[in-house]
Amino acid sequence: MTYNAAEHPKNLSPDTVVVAAGRPAREHDAPVNPPIVLSSTYVGTGEVVDGDRAYGRYSNPTWDPLEDALGQLEGATLPALIFSSGLAAASAALSLVPTGGVLVMPTHSYQGALVMAQEQAAKGLFTLRTVDIANNDEVILALTGSGEKAADMLWLESPTNPMLEVADIGLLCRSAQAVGAIVVTDNTFSTPLVQKPLELGADIVLHSVTKYLAGHSDVILGALATSNPELRHALLHHRSIHGAIAGPFEAWLALRGLRTLALRVERSQASAAVLAERLDAHDGVTKVLFPGLPSDPGHQRATAQMSGFGSILCVEVAGGADAANALVEALQVWTPATSLGGVESLIERRRRHANEPETVPANLLRLSVGIENVEDLWSDLEQALAQVVPATSIPRDAL
Ligand code: PLP
Repeated sequence: MTYNAAEHPKNLSPDTVVVAAGRPAREHDAPVNPPIVLSSTYVGTGEVVDGDRAYGRYSNPTWDPLEDALGQLEGATLPALIFSSGLAAASAALSLVPTGGVLVMPTHSYQGALVMAQEQAAKGLFTLRTVDIANNDEVILALTGSGEKAADMLWLESPTNPMLEVADIGLLCRSAQAVGAIVVTDNTFSTPLVQKPLELGADIVLHSVTKYLAGHSDVILGALATSNPELRHALLHHRSIHGAIAGPFEAWLALRGLRTLALRVERSQASAAVLAERLDAHDGVTKVLFPGLPSDPGHQRATAQMSGFGSILCVEVAGGADAANALVEALQVWTPATSLGGVESLIERRRRHANEPETVPANLLRLSVGIENVEDLWSDLEQALAQVVPATSIPRDAL
């Protein structure tokens, strides 16, 4: 089946692309949505040549419309590549660090990617330099190596998970390119509707499609987008050989979820901004991390390189980890669960995960704001805060 990318007018806005991309070509009686193709192999005789589907680990027609849509959204000149999970996509991207090379990564990268890099570094595959990604001087020093070997890859995540630090993506991409390093940017938190790392100079964009792109907490999937044919070829080869491929049903569900991405992002971002302001003024919260707050250290950078501030915010709860745990348990509308980016609002204390870096405060809660009514979300937080840290008992300036 062919898809109608070529029929689209150029320069559609992204909120139209999420709806229009990856549709079957407009032929009489064609379906409006691409079908799910369940086949582990494809008919063929003679030599297998480039572009042949050949076998289900190399390609599936259900992947194509999603890959087209994600590539278009990230502004890539090539279709994206989908993987069985965000972490499988991360694994393919990390495979581009040469043996004996150097990887520079944020201290507060998504912990799964960080643990993977730490384990590979511990095996001696490469040297890992972790940095405060918001500190340009520190990152540039790690990139150049200051007398040691220069970096081969810069891993960016901005805002970081969960500390929401904002990297200066444009400047760091130029610094990485100056030493010949590839830049991979995890754009999961922002989505391509809010931030376009390839336009800022990154070579590869990574997504946990599991999160906002699919958007309904019912799919595990990952993606990489690049405009560089050699890099794409290497990533595709890695996927085919290591086998971390998407199931056709997951790919179909993710494209279905993607159709409403613009509406979901618009709603959840607006609610996150309201909640961040109110939480910031609440005595039961000692700190709010959210780049949308003018007082946030990342605010200026985020304003310059993002078209919004995302829908994730973190709070430090007065009364420590026990109070944070009790708050999560007292909530009725928010769901206590890990993950983010779904229609339902989720909350969790990040340090409940053994692998979370100790630099993440023990009383830090990560909130993934969904699309419920913002007043219901606020009332729930307010009643839970009142139970756990009564507002009058803790004068804010005494915290
Ligand atoms: N990147 C970020 C920023 C994430 O939050 C996650 C998952 O939480 C991942 C990557 C990994 O994605 P997945 O869970 O789809 O493997």
